[in-house]
Amino acid sequence: MTLLRHTRGGEITERQALTINPAKTCQPIGAMYAALGIHRCLPHSHGSQGCCSYHRSTLSRHYKEPVMAATSSFTEGSSVFGGQANLLQAIDNIFTVYQPDVIAVHTTCLSETIGDDIPQISEKASEKGLIPDGKCVIHASTPSYVGAAPTGFANMTAGMVKYFSKSTSPTKVADRVNVIPGWVEPADMREIKRIVAAMGLESIVFPDTSDVLDCPQTGMHEMFPKGGVTVEQLRATGDSAATIALGPICSDAAAVELTNKCGVPHTTLPLPIGLEATDRFILALREYNGGLVPQEITDERGRLIDLITDMHQYFYNKTAALWGDPDQLVSLSELLLTVDILPKYVVTGTPGKKFLRRMGEVLQERKSEVQVRQGTGADLFLMHQWIKNEKVDLLIGNTYGKYISRDEGIPLVRHGFPILDRVGHQFFPTVGYRGAIRLLEQILEALMQRQDDQCSEERFELTM
Ligand code: SF4
Repeated sequence: MTLLRHTRGGEITERQALTINPAKTCQPIGAMYAALGIHRCLPHSHGSQGCCSYHRSTLSRHYKEPVMAATSSFTEGSSVFGGQANLLQAIDNIFTVYQPDVIAVHTTCLSETIGDDIPQISEKASEKGLIPDGKCVIHASTPSYVGAAPTGFANMTAGMVKYFSKSTSPTKVADRVNVIPGWVEPADMREIKRIVAAMGLESIVFPDTSDVLDCPQTGMHEMFPKGGVTVEQLRATGDSAATIALGPICSDAAAVELTNKCGVPHTTLPLPIGLEATDRFILALREYNGGLVPQEITDERGRLIDLITDMHQYFYNKTAALWGDPDQLVSLSELLLTVDILPKYVVTGTPGKKFLRRMGEVLQERKSEVQVRQGTGADLFLMHQWIKNEKVDLLIGNTYGKYISRDEGIPLVRHGFPILDRVGHQFFPTVGYRGAIRLLEQILEALMQRQDDQCSEERFELTM
């Protein structure tokens, strides 16, 4: 708080090599989250204990669930001589003690800098008989100095295809699609499965953290909860009719890999957050179900449009500041523009070549009214400086924005990762038409409560 109270407006100094209060999270967290979306998989952090503790605790605090993961526990010796001995010992211990079906190894800054070769170490583990029959060790390379959590998610998801997907026949299963959901909440993954089923299609959603990170309380601890895509399903992705990848940064790499490896055609779409983005998802699914949209989905769309129409006067001409992951920011900006809220400031620390172009396509003629920044210096300090110079009506982003919210008296709608101080994000989807209703309801609540709190007495209305 004290730190942010020192944020000054006025002239903004360009920074080339300094990030203050980053608008991104470390790459292995994304890999760990993706790995948890495989049934009976234990994520393994190849590095020091501190990295693994940070990744686990951030995920646990966001999901309010115990997040299981193992670590190679590097010491000074492994930092100098490499972590092969630690990983071999870890693979042996994990299969002996915890008996997962899959160990998903991701690297860290330290093991990447040393140059540990994980496939070679896995091969050695296999030669030494440390990997029991029918069990697997997969890996993703996730140095945090060249990426962020969405990149880690993308790398681990592409790893699932590299290690598991198989094409067993030139004839594909006509009514089955693979959906790569991107880094969204467990509730979103469940909602995506519901939408695809409502469209009359079978789906393999991977990864799938529903029923892993939003488990019901049963009084019993389950090391491996019932959810997650199974290894068998991952193998079968190579025989599906198509892949729909949601969110280019998180999902495109796996979809491309699947096309190249198994000849499964893919379509990459923005995350289906908001009216237009969900329309695109539904239209893509129509390609495989004979062109039908069931009444259930049409009604959900109609209810969203009704909400937008009824409450438009509260959205109109408002401004918002957004930070977080690129795939989320593009779709959120489009949703805001649909209801006539201007996403005035947008920052992400996550790299990704197409983000600025995609934002330009969404903003169109309003581009000149918006500040968009990506990479080094695209942080919450910069966002706060912009806000000091010209305020906005609303903040949308993760918990780290609560300092700006309090300092400036601007309401914050929590969205993205991590949310460390509220619940709800893991239970209520924001994808699809129903998700957009939820998101708009949260935005309205913030804007209307602010109006109630700040308007003059003669403008204080019972009916709004
Ligand atoms: S940034 Fe690198 S060193 Fe820091 S927690 Fe992440 S992986 Fe570990």
